Amino acid sequence: MSNNTQNRRQFLKTSGKAGMAMATLPIFTKLSSSSTMALSDYVQQPLPYGYATLEPFIDALTMEIHYTKHAAAYAKNLADACVAEKVDTNVTNLTDLLKNISTYSPKMRNNAGGHFNHELFWQLMKPAPATSPTGALAEAITKTFGSFDAFKTALGDAAKARFGSGWAWLVVKTDGSLVVSSTPNQDNPLMDIAETKGTPILGLDVWEHAYYLKYQNKRPDYINAWWNLVNWEFVQKKYAEAKR
Ligand code: MN
Repeated sequence: MSNNTQNRRQFLKTSGKAGMAMATLPIFTKLSSSSTMALSDYVQQPLPYGYATLEPFIDALTMEIHYTKHAAAYAKNLADACVAEKVDTNVTNLTDLLKNISTYSPKMRNNAGGHFNHELFWQLMKPAPATSPTGALAEAITKTFGSFDAFKTALGDAAKARFGSGWAWLVVKTDGSLVVSSTPNQDNPLMDIAETKGTPILGLDVWEHAYYLKYQNKRPDYINAWWNLVNWEFVQKKYAEAKR
């Protein structure tokens, strides 16, 4: 046997195995795929800051468990649901999937929502942000709610009033107007089953896993503290995108 033949056989054997492995691995590990544009929506992204950097408002242990256990599980279960329900993540982007969520299983609804909501939530917080928005978003908030403080009260009230687990949102509706809403569980305003539909540009996680270690039963204290973390530059960017 020539060296060339042997190398080729070895190559086929190895790549054949790799091919098998790729076919059975969960979707989120296929990072070497040539078209990763839509795929990346389905993959848990690195946290943009350290676990301890949001202290004292959110403690490091809560952040670590929230990101590595709760949010990671949504991403994994979403990948499993996509395999089971034959969603090609290279073709269907996550936003479109959410907009048609009524055609999928409860497992898809819970985990597609859970994954999307958390990926958004991490990005719209940062250590030591600006204390309020500026520009077009600031103007729209004042016009809609009367003042920035009145808006904070409206979103905080929606978060406090959410019975059990869920989210409070600032939403850009299809007509471009702003509205505060709240959803149960891991639903969000993109979903076709949402009471108030639109593009969420700010969201507050009021599941107990987001605050219980530090705040226990005092959800309002967590909500008040959370305003110290809102990354208004990011929210402004989301607002501009939603208005486009
Ligand atoms: Mn959460």
